[in-house]
Amino acid sequence: METDVEKAIDEILGRVDADRETVEKDLKKFIEYGVPLDQAKEAVVTKYGGVAHERQLKDITPHERNINVVAKILTVEEREVTVRDTKRTIHRGLLGDETAVLPFTAWKDFNLQKGDVVRIKNASSSEWDGQPRLSLSEWSEVEKLDRDIEPVQRTPQKLPLADLRPGLSNVEVRGKILSMEEREVTVGDVQKRVFSGIMADETGKIRYSAWHDFSLHEGDVIRIRGAYVRKWRGAPQLVFDEKSTVEKLDEAVAVRDMVLPLYKIVEAEGGVDVLTQGTVIEIRKDSGIIFRCPRCNRKIRDGVCEEDGEVQGVEDLRIKAVIDDGTGAVDVIFNRELSEKLLGKTLEEYLAIAREAMDYEVVHDEIVDRLLMVPLQIRGDSIPSDFIITLFAREAEPLQLDYKKEADEILSQLEG
Ligand SMILES: [Zn+2]
Repeated sequence: METDVEKAIDEILGRVDADRETVEKDLKKFIEYGVPLDQAKEAVVTKYGGVAHERQLKDITPHERNINVVAKILTVEEREVTVRDTKRTIHRGLLGDETAVLPFTAWKDFNLQKGDVVRIKNASSSEWDGQPRLSLSEWSEVEKLDRDIEPVQRTPQKLPLADLRPGLSNVEVRGKILSMEEREVTVGDVQKRVFSGIMADETGKIRYSAWHDFSLHEGDVIRIRGAYVRKWRGAPQLVFDEKSTVEKLDEAVAVRDMVLPLYKIVEAEGGVDVLTQGTVIEIRKDSGIIFRCPRCNRKIRDGVCEEDGEVQGVEDLRIKAVIDDGTGAVDVIFNRELSEKLLGKTLEEYLAIAREAMDYEVVHDEIVDRLLMVPLQIRGDSIPSDFIITLFAREAEPLQLDYKKEADEILSQLEG
């Protein structure tokens, strides 16, 4: 340790004009304050008017000052932010060198462009998302350099499937291919084969689409690095291509059928093949017998389709209900088949009842009688629509609450 300090003093003396004793005193003071030796060295150099060395991005930690680096601008975007009631335009993005990629924020317009290699002097670092972020202020200097650097690949963020959200990029996931379909698409003039389906891990399921033939098969357990997540038909979709790496793993993935609390389904803003439970707290008005357009299948009003005009409507039965489990609420749509199963009557039977009563409303009333406050278990795909998540049920059944078990538990608690 002592020799490291001696070496550092020698190096400082080689870079600035100061006497050994003062330099040693200053350096030791920084070290006493807990500043790492390398940083302490650069701080002393700057104190005596020297120019701090360029640092490697991997060595930068949060809450440092006077940072000098050479880096390539990888992404940059303009943003308007409000700081103490004042609107300011900032530029932020990612920059990288051979050792790391860091986010940055420039509080002054340095005319940074994607692809620029720049020498940055006198930046500082803050903490963002547990990572250092470079901050370029009025007092920073930026000089464009006429050379290129090859930045390291940013380490992908490892995530369980349940945590994937649209907009994430460069993620690493591991999961099992549950299903796969292959199709041809034309992008520009190029024919491409796309492989898509559902994959799962211990936390959940997601739709994926692979824009490259990784010779994947149903049942394969794979690790994907460098994938991104976009929104497709309202739900997150994992996308990977020839820039991603896919590795087949010799391990099992226990795909459990977990009952998700409703707040999780609301937070995810759409998901595939989700299983949940909740109590029906409301039957929406347009539940019961509805009429659909024979051409486009849309629900029609007074014999008129928005798209096709006046048509002869086709009767259908459906239920739109709100279910709640105490953590959140979602809308659920039950198609004819599930509605008939839950209600115990067929569409034809309801049509006969409605015609006899000369009122379709009686069907709505019966749905309320039968289903309101009934706990259900539902499986389906969820998509966000108009401020609420709608779950399209594929399976639904009344939940048999285990009263005996509950009573036993209460008893054993009393006895215990
Ligand atoms: Zn129509």
